[in-house]
Amino acid sequence: MNESFKNMALAGWGRYKPVPCHVYRPERRDALLALLDGGAPDSVLARGLGRSYGDAAVNRDGSVVDMTRLNRMRSFDPETGELECEPGVSLSEIISVFLPRGWFPGVVPGTRFVTLGGAIAHDVHGKNHHRDGSFSSFVDSIDLWTPALGVVTCSPTENADIFWATVGGAGLTGVMLSVRLRLRRVESAYVTADYQRCANIDAALEAFDATDEDYAYSVAWVDCLATAESLGRSVLMRGNPVAPGRLPRGPAQKPLHTPNRFNATVPFDFPGFVLNPLSIRAFNETFYAMNRPVKDKFVDYDKYFFPLDRILHWNRMYGKRGFVQYQATFPPEGRAGLRAMLERCSVARRASFLAVLKKFGDGGKGMLSHPMRGYTLTLDLADSPGLTAFLGELDRILLDHGGRLYLAKDAVASPETIAAMYPRLEEFRGVLRRVDPDGRIGSDLARRTGIAPAAGETHHG
Ligand SMILES: Cc1cc2nc3c(=O)[nH]c(=O)nc-3n(C[C@H](O)[C@H](O)[C@H](O)COP(=O)(O)OP(=O)(O)OC[C@H]3O[C@@H](n4cnc5c(N)ncnc54)[C@H](O)[C@@H]3O)c2cc1C
Repeated sequence: MNESFKNMALAGWGRYKPVPCHVYRPERRDALLALLDGGAPDSVLARGLGRSYGDAAVNRDGSVVDMTRLNRMRSFDPETGELECEPGVSLSEIISVFLPRGWFPGVVPGTRFVTLGGAIAHDVHGKNHHRDGSFSSFVDSIDLWTPALGVVTCSPTENADIFWATVGGAGLTGVMLSVRLRLRRVESAYVTADYQRCANIDAALEAFDATDEDYAYSVAWVDCLATAESLGRSVLMRGNPVAPGRLPRGPAQKPLHTPNRFNATVPFDFPGFVLNPLSIRAFNETFYAMNRPVKDKFVDYDKYFFPLDRILHWNRMYGKRGFVQYQATFPPEGRAGLRAMLERCSVARRASFLAVLKKFGDGGKGMLSHPMRGYTLTLDLADSPGLTAFLGELDRILLDHGGRLYLAKDAVASPETIAAMYPRLEEFRGVLRRVDPDGRIGSDLARRTGIAPAAGETHHG
């Protein structure tokens, strides 16, 4: 590689076990291509804003290409909402430019600080998965640099196998250079939200099943320290878009603008003892008590979709050792598994400060896309002695109930676990054999889970 690089320790958003990487930061496509075609002495990986929690965007002792300077928007068609841009553009940048003009991404994850490349590489889901599917439902085509085939354009109709391997493929098929996606028309930057308390996990799942179709957006906060008949008590927060005519006076004057807010910052690493079962229990009690049932509450997009973005560097709350986010999706018939997982967390007093539950609709066509019909539970677990063994127990529960982990979050699962959870893994590897037969693209996730062979090993055959 001919461009200058920096040696840096990189980690995912969980700040769990940083690894040394050679980091390049090209500003233009031709510089990027020169870098990639120049022939790296080691393996290479693209990285966005580093919001995947585990090791998907790190490459120990290898090269990492920071894509965030490749963030140009190229064209926009106001008839169709199709936007063409470089993959380092963040959803935050798209929202800042297009929301005031009445357009919004079709799917947004729980933070706006992700790049398009990152959103596609994990085929991210939002609070509307049960209605609209995941991010790839809104992607028309991708220009992708691959080690063996050079630059290929792929879409659901052109090089479709490469497209469906790239969507959810954790950056392993190549480096995205350009993306066409469809934005959606919106009339206002507000939802009307209904807040509903559910006394336990069964009540929450029943409420999801009975009424989720009535809502465009749906998510629940779960108290994962509650026990016995309160196990998994939850606050459901579901909403629908609002027409400007229904908004109260202030927002009605500027329906496509969200209020300016002061963002708090966590200025330093919290000592490890700050987040403990007692402090989390106190937080959970307060949260449950505060969120009284409400109907038709006007909530702006920032507050509804990205509540955590209001606290900058919130990942420092877990201290220097970092944390792991564990996202487990159970099929509809796996409800007992979900209950068993919550019981295990509560008995082990492995408190999650944030536990979130969503209902997924049908999975998409991405070979390694995470979502599948069912319920998805997300837990944040601080790194502490015994964590890996504990996560192994959770994996067992998940496997026994036909569930799967999310690669954007995972940091510890074994190759056998991941292979059992992703039935299209061989098909994915087949595409890698074509686009990267010599294993030039690499990541810690790929090596740890074996979803792609390590650099130097052959992909042939
Ligand atoms: C607070 C918070 C809330 C979140 N909520 C959700 C949620 O609700 N739903 C959800 O699905 N996810 C959620 N996530 C996870 C996040 O959306 C994904 O991990 C996303 O991939 C992060 O994008 P990024 O730009 O930070 O990518 P990175 O984390 O930097 O990289 C992620 C992957 O993308 C690949 N990649 C990046 N750019 C390119 C490129 N140009 N070409 C090829 N590969 C590329 C990398 O190699 C890596 O494998 C959340 C994360 C946080 C921190």
